[in-house]
Amino acid sequence: MPELRKDPVTGRWVIIASDRAKRPKSFIISKAPKQTGPCPFCPGNEGMTPEEISAIRPAGGAPNSTEWSMRVVPNKYPALRIEGGLDRKGEGMFDKMNGIGAHEVIIESPDHDKSIADLDENQVADIIKAYKYRTHDLERDARFRYVLIFRNHGPSAGASLDHAHSQIIALPIVPKRVQEEIRGAKQYFEYKERCVFCDMMSEELAAGKRVVLENDEFVVISPFAARFPFETWLLPKKHSSDFAQMPDESVGKCASALKDVLSRTKQVLDDPPYNFIVHTAPVHEHHENEYHWHIEIMPRLTHVAGFEWGSGFYINPTPPEEAAEFLRTITS
Ligand code: ZN
Ligand code: ZN
Repeated sequence: MPELRKDPVTGRWVIIASDRAKRPKSFIISKAPKQTGPCPFCPGNEGMTPEEISAIRPAGGAPNSTEWSMRVVPNKYPALRIEGGLDRKGEGMFDKMNGIGAHEVIIESPDHDKSIADLDENQVADIIKAYKYRTHDLERDARFRYVLIFRNHGPSAGASLDHAHSQIIALPIVPKRVQEEIRGAKQYFEYKERCVFCDMMSEELAAGKRVVLENDEFVVISPFAARFPFETWLLPKKHSSDFAQMPDESVGKCASALKDVLSRTKQVLDDPPYNFIVHTAPVHEHHENEYHWHIEIMPRLTHVAGFEWGSGFYINPTPPEEAAEFLRTITS
């Protein structure tokens, strides 16, 4: 029997089609051909990117030189532009504003073919530190209200370049999806005086069947109302609304959990395309008690089509309990 499941945070309904559960093999799809031409993110091609914002390189290395282990650069083709004022306008009933924002790229490693799943934990920790430090920097710009950190892996997940990278976009508005999630968390908090994510985590840890992995500080679960097959969420065990406030001492544990879940996903599904998104509280808003930051990882195995767009429902052909079990039991 399929089940209708309601996400306790957003109130979003999902159909879990447990009677036609798909196993990992049914999702394996052919790999797209590799890009051609020089890679702008490879060492030696630093001149192909805009001037770097920061980098990790040996002491004494000049900016934009060839020796580095990670670089942060402005996106050459940004979705939003950093220059200018906000300039909100009305046009009849319609509201608009300039496309102000920042769009940065974190080139995660000099190695063209290595993704987070393949890097060592220290390198993954450097990437997470860069997310934190770039967020702090962008938050100082009074025009920005939300800093979105995300990663696209594989062409069908939207990655336009093969070379491993993450992106950060600072926005002058709080996106609707973020607002909805915060509203749901706030309603739960007002009713129960507890954080919905903390409650969810203790339920999951007690039951165990949707837990993929955990360490002292972080847990990865397949959420109860997972929208996508093999969707997972990484949460800090200690309540915190703001990703960028993660203490530096916790970064190593976060890196370890992130690398672990991405390696397991890679093994179970033969390096699937995926997106991950850091969900964190908006800049300058106070949701300390009710919101809980986390990272949502969504392998791109199914296509969102007419029914999903029309209804806002997702049909998930793999129950999260089964996904968690596959991910938990895979041996490296
Ligand atoms: Zn490259
Ligand atoms: Zn919490």
